[in-house]
Amino acid sequence: MLTAEQIKEVLMNNVINLRFHARGGQGGVTASNLCVEAFYGYGVCQPLFGAERMGSPTESYVRLSSNEDLVRSNEQVYGPHFVSVLDPSLLGEINVTAGIPKGGWLIVNTVMDQISIQDVVGRKDINIATIDATNIALDVLGRNITNTIILGALIRVSHLFTVNELSDAIMRRFKGEIAGKNIKAIKQAIEDTCVYDMGTEIDFSIDTKVPWQQVKPGLPGYKDVDKAGVWYCDENVIPYGSSQIMTGSWGEWEIIWDSEKCTDCAQCWYICPDFAILRVKGEDDLWHMAGIDNFHCKSCQNCINICPVDAISKQLKQGPASCAVPEDQGGE
Ligand code: SF4
Ligand code: SF4
Repeated sequence: MLTAEQIKEVLMNNVINLRFHARGGQGGVTASNLCVEAFYGYGVCQPLFGAERMGSPTESYVRLSSNEDLVRSNEQVYGPHFVSVLDPSLLGEINVTAGIPKGGWLIVNTVMDQISIQDVVGRKDINIATIDATNIALDVLGRNITNTIILGALIRVSHLFTVNELSDAIMRRFKGEIAGKNIKAIKQAIEDTCVYDMGTEIDFSIDTKVPWQQVKPGLPGYKDVDKAGVWYCDENVIPYGSSQIMTGSWGEWEIIWDSEKCTDCAQCWYICPDFAILRVKGEDDLWHMAGIDNFHCKSCQNCINICPVDAISKQLKQGPASCAVPEDQGGE
């Protein structure tokens, strides 16, 4: 891992590129804005908005340098040196390591250990840092908003700015108690980040534009055309439409149905905006509540709020913190 002095040296003649992967509503764009505001030199950031709605995958990009002339580009970052993933469910859905050079850093909000992450992303040549930002957010902020907390992990491995510089940027953007809580959460994140340093350094002089590859092609409905890719719906290819797309990964909560408590009133079925309440036809020829379709449920919690007998509950999709990499394999 480079020291703060070495990073300063790199920034004099190079650009350091960052990419943030989040879900709509998690504040990935705010995180990238804060990087530019906290950085002492020159910086630009751009968001990439696709199907922007709560829970859908989003990206945002940051370029930082001490040399003003090097950060004028407004195109997306193709070769990020640091990638931050605010939602662990994105690991299986988006190619989050696309374009990271050898020795680059992948920073993930997760309780998975770093070796498991290497297996999931299929890269053994990058460094990995993990932080249980979700639990810190719930504990300190009282809400599952992890965008500032992931920046604590970024500070720990990148030294691009100091905690004081980030705190100043936060106080300019947020007010009073909210700013204070975010700064407290960031400080905890710097302490708690698990670092898996491969000992390989990045060649910051390389900023390679790689082919467009964020969405993994090969799913039914994906077609290559001359200049891009398109999604299409053909009943011979996608017989049941959304049966192919796991929108259930867009939600942070697992929704749990208790058949013992359920009185079969069907209120949850009427209110669910995603048709994610399962019902089956019984021998009495009537439809009965049968469970939750977690493949499509986006955890809006409408069903929890409306159920008159508390037969539906929720639990976070990940458990308590862990830092499972042994010290002799690079864990800290
Ligand atoms: S939380 Fe309940 S209402 Fe909301 S999408 Fe899931 S099953 Fe439907
Ligand atoms: S609202 Fe509650 S009681 Fe009514 S069907 Fe749904 S889970 Fe069962």
